[in-house]
Amino acid sequence: MDIQVIGVRDLPLIQRGDDLPALICDRVAFEDGDILAVASSVYSKAKGFTRDLATITPGAEAVRVAAKTKEDPRFVQAVLDSSTDILLEYPFILSELPSGHIGVRAGVDHSNVEDGRIIILPPDPMGAAAEVRSAIRRITGKDVRVLITDTCGRSFRRGQTGIAIGWAGMTAINDYRGDTDLFGHVLEITEEAVVDEVAAFANFVMGESHQGVPAVVFRNCRTWDGHDAVYFTPEQDIIRAALKSKKD
Ligand code: GDP
Ligand code: MN
Ligand code: MN
Repeated sequence: MDIQVIGVRDLPLIQRGDDLPALICDRVAFEDGDILAVASSVYSKAKGFTRDLATITPGAEAVRVAAKTKEDPRFVQAVLDSSTDILLEYPFILSELPSGHIGVRAGVDHSNVEDGRIIILPPDPMGAAAEVRSAIRRITGKDVRVLITDTCGRSFRRGQTGIAIGWAGMTAINDYRGDTDLFGHVLEITEEAVVDEVAAFANFVMGESHQGVPAVVFRNCRTWDGHDAVYFTPEQDIIRAALKSKKD
């Protein structure tokens, strides 16, 4: 069957304490096997992973970096607070988060939130995806796969795309190693990052500004076998090593 893509419309502006899975279930008749992509921004707003800039006192490190990036030192402090490792300070902060995700400004967002507030990424996005999945199972009885997405820039190319920062009910990678191509060649290195492919299209449906579509359902997607080791270890990650050697 062809894949169906359903943007979840008419959700309210999400506030801290909102039951996001219940609000989504009110608007979608889920079927077993559906993949639900949820924008990290709304998950964070529902859970209170937001901060008031007025309550943040920047430390010396934030003041130093903010002078280079020409950003609000309080914003930079929030980025540093979200980060476990800084790979690049300038022209933008690129850092690692506790989940292993590496992102520009640690994914801290000014947009789609009130003036003076910022949205930070969920600290445990895998747990977030699992929690949304089990809430939907509890409400509807359906076995749904869940992605938590964010919009991210990419190396080497202009333009942002959606990526998955958390997932549940599927593996991140569809591992093609050992499979044969049309000519019988055995694939030796192909590991497809399926969660990012789905997240990118979800992001396209969501849009980036006032569209108000923070969740997207994909129906009739096949299943796959693979693994979740989507983040390179520091030893494997040659780009990270190159960036860090430049920084120090
Ligand atoms: P991010 O990619 O997770 O940082 O999220 P974005 O800020 O890019 O928003 C993705 C989509 O969700 C866009 O369509 C936004 O308009 C929408 N969105 C963001 N916050 C809300 C909200 O509180 N309620 C609704 N209904 N939509 C929202
Ligand atoms: Mn974002
Ligand atoms: Mn976005």
